Amino acid sequence: MAMSALGTLSESVGGPVVRPGDPGYDEARRVHNAMIDAHPAAVVRCRSTADVVATVRYATETGSPLAVRGGGHSVPGFGTADGAVVADLSGLQAVEVDGGARTAAAGGGTTWGRFNDVTAAAGLATTGGIISTTGLGGLTLGGGIGYLSRGYGLSCDNLVEARVVTADGDVLTASEAEHPDLFWALRGGGGNFGVVTQFTYRLHPVGTVLGGPMFFELSDAVAVLSAFRDFIADAPREYGGFPAFQIAPPLPFVPADRVGEPFVAIVSCWTGSAAEGERVLDGFRQVARPVAEHVGPMPYAALNSAFDALVPPGLQHYWKAAFVTELTDEAIAAHVEHGARVPVVNSTMHLYPINGAVHDVAPDATAFGHRTASWAPVIAGMWPDPTDNEANTRWVREYHAAIAPHSEAGGYVNFASADDQARVADNYGSNYGRLREVKRRYDPANVFHLNQNIQP
Ligand SMILES: Cc1cc2nc3c(=O)[nH]c(=O)nc-3n(C[C@H](O)[C@H](O)[C@H](O)COP(=O)(O)OP(=O)(O)OC[C@H]3O[C@@H](n4cnc5c(N)ncnc54)[C@H](O)[C@@H]3O)c2cc1C
Repeated sequence: MAMSALGTLSESVGGPVVRPGDPGYDEARRVHNAMIDAHPAAVVRCRSTADVVATVRYATETGSPLAVRGGGHSVPGFGTADGAVVADLSGLQAVEVDGGARTAAAGGGTTWGRFNDVTAAAGLATTGGIISTTGLGGLTLGGGIGYLSRGYGLSCDNLVEARVVTADGDVLTASEAEHPDLFWALRGGGGNFGVVTQFTYRLHPVGTVLGGPMFFELSDAVAVLSAFRDFIADAPREYGGFPAFQIAPPLPFVPADRVGEPFVAIVSCWTGSAAEGERVLDGFRQVARPVAEHVGPMPYAALNSAFDALVPPGLQHYWKAAFVTELTDEAIAAHVEHGARVPVVNSTMHLYPINGAVHDVAPDATAFGHRTASWAPVIAGMWPDPTDNEANTRWVREYHAAIAPHSEAGGYVNFASADDQARVADNYGSNYGRLREVKRRYDPANVFHLNQNIQP
């Protein structure tokens, strides 16, 4: 790309444009997954919607590949690429709460940690991810699964409006009333349709929750998973939690002689009354005696950052996902066999229930294409040492292959890896055909292609 053209871009945006050789380039080109080692032509630190418009126009006029980066957590590293112009939205993190309307407007590069901190001041929250450093941009556009999904739906179900920069560089408002086809596609179709510079969400009264992890012996794993399956089928919607396989980290609540061993865990979040929550969580203790637990009342925002230390930047990531309609005994057996082999403390399998309020929304009402599933398991391989890549990706692949016969054809787009592009139609599920139509309307030249890509 001609340096003079980049010079023109620098003059037309308010934020800095970081190029190879500039101080800070190495930091600016990095994303959360350290396996990604791309060298973009420029990283534009956008500070406004106008900066995003200028960056999109620049990319289309010069024919440069365009990468859009929200929180940078995409496992395939879609927020960067060799030779690309990166629209880095991390400077767009203003969050404004309207307490009366119970909504919050947030910049397209906001992290959930920042969003939760601001809305918590008003005693409000919406469904977000379980790690505070994840961006709300990518997470919401792909669906959005978290502690509050059973109570309040997916993150995308709580989206009421989006400000979108299209492939033509136009700025549109998408909502039920304006550009409803685009609004439909943004709720599950990923970053395929434009750059969202502002998301407006519906909020709910959520303050202190009863939450945290319980660790059980692997010998109790079948009993724990079976009991959780039976419990969650019609559990109160105040309960949002998930079973996991996890190596016990060196924390004070874990007996010293058990640190480093794998366990089956239940991570809970209860948003109702403390007394009722204690009763519900005690039900898990009746199934098997926890080896360790760290459950108690805490602000919702605190639970959302409780596991951040397990996923610092700089780890290698390789993930696989599935959707499951019915969690059979055979599926549980496969989980126990492979979950027990979780190789490192950062890696995990989370078995997210997506029933409750997620099922209140009709399967074709938003683009999220797997409403009929009740579970969204993710096998998240995360490890520090690149020399362990082979062993860790093998664990993820073998685990995924073992649960595949008990799962639907696709997996959640936000948990997919770079080698999942061939599964993209299955991953977008029942709404893929309509997604392609909307893609043809809003991005026929596939300007927004660095994502789980919907070919126009
Ligand atoms: C540690 C970790 C924890 C996670 N936990 C959860 C969880 O609890 N629940 C869950 O549902 N998912 C979770 N995820 C998956 C997460 O939803 C995806 O990785 C998501 O893509 C992250 O969004 P991001 O903005 O941080 O990523 P980015 O890499 O910045 O972006 C991901 C994709 O979205 C596009 N994009 C991002 N922002 C915008 C925007 N404003 N406008 C248009 N396109 C945009 C990008 O172009 C890219 O294609 C987690 C991921 C990680 C790494």
